[in-house]
Amino acid sequence: MISFKPSAALENMRNLLHMVAENQIRPVARQCDHHDAEKPWDHINFMWESVKARGTESAAAAKKEKKEKKADGPREGNMQMVTIIEELAWGDAGIYLCTPNAGLAGFAIEAVGTPEQKERFLKRFTEGEPKWGAMAITEPHFGSDTSQVATTAVRDGDEWVLNGTKIFVTSGLMAAQESPGILVVWATLDKNAGRAGIKSFVVEAGTPGMKVLGVEDKLGIRANDTAPIVFDNCRIPIENILGSAEVVQSSGTAGFKGAMATFDASRPAVAASGVGVAQAALDGLKEILEKEGIEIRYDAPDHELTAIERDVIDMEAQVQAARLLTYRSAWMMDERRHNALEASMAKAKAGSVTTKVTQKAVEILGPLGYSQKHLFEKWMRDAKITDLYEGTQQINLLIVARRLLDYSSKALS
Ligand SMILES: Cc1cc2nc3c(=O)[nH]c(=O)nc-3n(C[C@H](O)[C@H](O)[C@H](O)COP(=O)(O)OP(=O)(O)OC[C@H]3O[C@@H](n4cnc5c(N)ncnc54)[C@H](O)[C@@H]3O)c2cc1C
Repeated sequence: MISFKPSAALENMRNLLHMVAENQIRPVARQCDHHDAEKPWDHINFMWESVKARGTESAAAAKKEKKEKKADGPREGNMQMVTIIEELAWGDAGIYLCTPNAGLAGFAIEAVGTPEQKERFLKRFTEGEPKWGAMAITEPHFGSDTSQVATTAVRDGDEWVLNGTKIFVTSGLMAAQESPGILVVWATLDKNAGRAGIKSFVVEAGTPGMKVLGVEDKLGIRANDTAPIVFDNCRIPIENILGSAEVVQSSGTAGFKGAMATFDASRPAVAASGVGVAQAALDGLKEILEKEGIEIRYDAPDHELTAIERDVIDMEAQVQAARLLTYRSAWMMDERRHNALEASMAKAKAGSVTTKVTQKAVEILGPLGYSQKHLFEKWMRDAKITDLYEGTQQINLLIVARRLLDYSSKALS
């Protein structure tokens, strides 16, 4: 039987992060929502120090286990990841995205990189100053159809030369400019080869030829930067292609499939942030209803429930359903099971739940929800991105349908 009962360590971590979200993140959420606000440095520095301390602890624990030749205990790294994200996003989704880490670049490197590349590119995220990673796929002429990548990578001696434009890169500014971070960039080696020619490349912050064009002024998650980035004869070392050089020569779609595997890890993460935002709106709504003396009678018969009770109970059930799908997709990763179907299910469900729940909270509270006195209008704005990035709602439902019906992408598009 599948059990998502968290270990004591995971439960402690959740409680600690909830306190961080409540006391450190929430108080600056409104301020960071303003476009010209400073970055949330208290959060950034706190999380960075915690990550470094945890990194040292787990390295020591791994060493000890190896020495004692202990059998493999239960793995819960991905369950930890979704727990951390849910709690931080409960505090604020935009501030959560400012947490220094390898981000989507890390997922890509884990999915496609060689052991040497993992060491070279990911080790930096546990030492020194705060750093960020980002992933650049989307271009001005496409988003959903990732096979349309037109940014080129051409080999010139011991280097790849990248040319093209990427847009809407989450944390792009921080990853490319503000830190010695990294960007994973999708580019094609041969446009005629279609999907088979698409590979991902690691570009280090500050590489000449990579230019951040600015920052998007957007609806939600405004604390975090979203940037268009141009690659103009940007030269990177030959060994920065993710995966081995031999894979490049092979035919078929192996390279593209490898790159797509990034989404199996990133979609549960996005789903978790959506669950966090939905839970924030639900908790906020219940707190106000309670203050107004409105009780939710969970044990009352259906026909006796008021409209508000019915709404709140439905919201709770929906959030819990999205959470359980998210946990399942993360748990499967911990179990080393292929989770592409479950990751898309979780992402699609969390996207639709968080947009509906946050909107419902605003609706129930009326002008109070719509005003900036509370954070409900902000949660409604922050929620929508769950439905957009890492595959839109429609694309994830399409993936679910294809996998359930065993259709190819050509047969069902
Ligand atoms: C704040 C923000 C951050 C982002 N961060 C990143 C990032 O870090 N890296 C990155 O590479 N990209 C990022 N993106 C881009 C995002 O992934 C794309 O916007 C998304 O994939 C949709 O692509 P599109 O905008 O081109 O829309 P389109 O693909 O043009 O889609 C438009 C509409 O048509 C629907 N649609 C498209 N194809 C189908 C189909 N076959 N069947 C049914 N419906 C369909 C879509 O669901 C959508 O509703 C970000 C976007 C935003 C807004």
